[in-house]
Amino acid sequence: MTSAPVDTKSELSYMSPRPDSPWGTYLGQVDRVTPYLGPLQRWVDILKRPKQALVVNVPIELDNGRFAHFEGYRVQHSLARGPGKGGVRFHPDVTLEEVTALSAWMTVKTAAVNLPYGGAKGGVRVDPRKLSRGELERLTRRYTSAIGKIIGPHTDIPAPDVNTNAQVMAWMMDTYSINTGATATGVVTGKPIHLGGSLGRVKATGRGVFVTGREAARRMGLDLNGARIAIQGFGNVGSVAAELFADAGAKVVAVQDHSGTLYNDGGFDVARLLAANGPDGIAGSGLGESIPDESFWDVRCDILIPAALEGQLSAERARRVSARLVLEGANGPTVPAADDVLAERGVLLVPDVICNAGGVTVSYFEWVQDFSSFFWTEDEINVRLDKILMQALTRIWETADRHRISLRTATYAVAFERILMAHEERGLYP
Ligand code: NAD
Repeated sequence: MTSAPVDTKSELSYMSPRPDSPWGTYLGQVDRVTPYLGPLQRWVDILKRPKQALVVNVPIELDNGRFAHFEGYRVQHSLARGPGKGGVRFHPDVTLEEVTALSAWMTVKTAAVNLPYGGAKGGVRVDPRKLSRGELERLTRRYTSAIGKIIGPHTDIPAPDVNTNAQVMAWMMDTYSINTGATATGVVTGKPIHLGGSLGRVKATGRGVFVTGREAARRMGLDLNGARIAIQGFGNVGSVAAELFADAGAKVVAVQDHSGTLYNDGGFDVARLLAANGPDGIAGSGLGESIPDESFWDVRCDILIPAALEGQLSAERARRVSARLVLEGANGPTVPAADDVLAERGVLLVPDVICNAGGVTVSYFEWVQDFSSFFWTEDEINVRLDKILMQALTRIWETADRHRISLRTATYAVAFERILMAHEERGLYP
């Protein structure tokens, strides 16, 4: 007797989103990679839904004595290869759907770099700029308590993301430790150094952009010495990448941040630009020539590094880009249609999930050091970081060559193969 068909549709609306939404984009990426997964394809539907999603109310008392309620999330997309890993975002636009997509991309990122983690993400829908420091601390502690039942050093390890930082991680670690009765430094990463943080974490993402970019340039025969570089975003990621590329002999000819766009045909003195960069950005630095923001995409360059926001490289902008190599320092800076334009034009793109994976890799080192209570030097961190990223990129490059696919599709193929292999080997319980 055959059993009746079972309706497996989710009641959650985010399971059937608009194609251009974050979760819709992720689902499109899964479909694109599925043909390359061979017999593991039978597991692929497991990637199209999160393992578990916790929605919590976060009530706090404001300084004026009133109560305010905020919605918080922690989504664990996959725990197949190890504990969940992913940041916590405090932002007024945070939604369950967005956090779910971000958690899935963390699954891809940790698997692409072969870290022993799954993927997770958290967030609270709040504008933290409207909170006092005391209110922010109470929000962080109440949120940590609320998600405390699913996070932990062996289960799911949060980290900083948009509008959260080392101080927020210190509050999270303290709250979790008090609730569980033992100081557990390994419950979060991105902590202050004297609370179990890691040397090298601050520069790790920009360093990863440089290391993967240098290797991509070498493989495509692009000499870094004198190479012209345009960078969007001069924050943590963009400024460190700029510094390292300049040290390697490249010329940073254009930089754009929230304050404006600067151009210097002979190449900026990156150290001076760094010194001039403050909360007001680079526009008032007096260095270089100010050009219209939209002209940034027309600047003559060999390497383009979008390291600011998502969705910046549209198909229209991709047609104007002169670079031969695009390094995605930011998460999701290239819209899917632009990917196709770049590929048609022969522009090589190193995708975010490998290009900016230096941060999560050093977060992994932080977690390992916390467990052993033995801390490495910054040189040791950098040597290990470079090795892991080079190994990851080599494997992805070989996959791209073998199937004649883009580095992005190859990265997803490598990552999904590792995740689905874990499912295959673990089996389906019961
Ligand atoms: P940041 O806040 O330090 O810097 C952001 C930069 O982008 C600033 O220079 C800002 O002026 C610029 N910017 C903001 N709005 C802009 C606009 N409209 N046009 C042009 N520039 C604008 O952030 P960050 O940590 O450097 O992160 C940058 C990107 O990298 C984000 O997408 C982030 O998710 C991603 N990322 C960061 C890390 C990390 O470890 N910091 C890790 C992985 C991915």
